[in-house]
Amino acid sequence: MTGISTRTVRALGTMERGTLAPPVYTSSTFAQPPAGGENAFCYQRGGNPTRSAAEKVLAALEGAAHAFCFVSGMAATRAILDLLDAGEELILGIPIYGGTYRYALEVLPEYGVQTTYLDDLNALSDADFAGRNVKMVFLESPTNPTLRINDIARIAEVAHRNGALVAVDNTFLSPYLQLPLQLGADLVVQSATKYLAGSGDLMGGVVTTDQEALAERIHFAQKCSGAVLAPIESYRLAQAVKTLPIRMDRQQSAMLQVVEAISGHPSIEKLWTPGSESEQEREVQERQARGPGAVFSLQLVPGADVDAFLASLETISFAVSLGHMESLVCIPALQTHDAFIPEHLEKVAVSPRLLRFAIGLEDPEDLIADLVQALDGVQTEG
Ligand SMILES: *Cc1c(COP(=O)(O)O)cnc(C)c1O
Repeated sequence: MTGISTRTVRALGTMERGTLAPPVYTSSTFAQPPAGGENAFCYQRGGNPTRSAAEKVLAALEGAAHAFCFVSGMAATRAILDLLDAGEELILGIPIYGGTYRYALEVLPEYGVQTTYLDDLNALSDADFAGRNVKMVFLESPTNPTLRINDIARIAEVAHRNGALVAVDNTFLSPYLQLPLQLGADLVVQSATKYLAGSGDLMGGVVTTDQEALAERIHFAQKCSGAVLAPIESYRLAQAVKTLPIRMDRQQSAMLQVVEAISGHPSIEKLWTPGSESEQEREVQERQARGPGAVFSLQLVPGADVDAFLASLETISFAVSLGHMESLVCIPALQTHDAFIPEHLEKVAVSPRLLRFAIGLEDPEDLIADLVQALDGVQTEG
């Protein structure tokens, strides 16, 4: 098999009239040939050539058999979680993306699906399935926002032995750095809004799988919900994904430079990068991923004036999201994870002094200078 960049860039080959960028087909409907003939496309929600092109590029990127593009990451996540029927149970690894958590907490119970929240999936065992009807384990690695590492292969082995599917949200690392399907996951979801699009002006989501039966169910969910990616967004995503490897390389190396420059700063109580929590997690991370990605988190010292710190940043924007061209910082406890009930928030150690940074494409030296001046200026109250 060719390398990931070649595979992704060349996924569509040369199209009609020598076209190398995918054509945008905006038609809502497709004229059907008279009786007996066949047109692969009928109506835009069910499928259109530009969305198919984006799905082909995304499948190539991941080396997956099937990819399905949705209008947002949450629409894609929902297509996976909606595979659960009334009476079936979900195990959700926490911490996890706030929107996924909110859906499990507020919406799934209305469909008769109960969720168990586990803050250490690496300890998952047969006992977690005993006497219950668990049909899916849903997780992230690294987790959001404390970048804990879940051993995907081991979790998949335990889940499969107990008849449950494994779904992984791979948004933080992207297929360039981690391939959950090859580690044993049945389904992968990503918010394309983040690294896949990479530009900070496109919202989308994608589900991938190697299994025919699951692909049929996801395609059915896509058609039923109607939460499909539009043709122009599909075109933009197909093109954007081709530069993912170079963007990710650059953002990842900048993240490592920034972390090195600020680690040990007296205003920082704790600093997290993927695998930094323990020797065991570092070993798993190095085994299952090709790199740490471009997100890190830090906790300011007790009493630090977080608002003043954020206000003193000049280059880095105070905004949720990640994978954009602009470097961003957010307060997960108050923003992305505000749906968490206090008991869960405490369990996963997400304090309001914890800040999550997503490094963008600015010059690393400028990001370092900005962060260092802001950290130098941290005042502690009392
Ligand atoms: C942003 C995000 C999502 C949701 O994606 P949207 O495109 O915003 O709907 C899901 N998971 C993770 C890890 C995310 O960062």
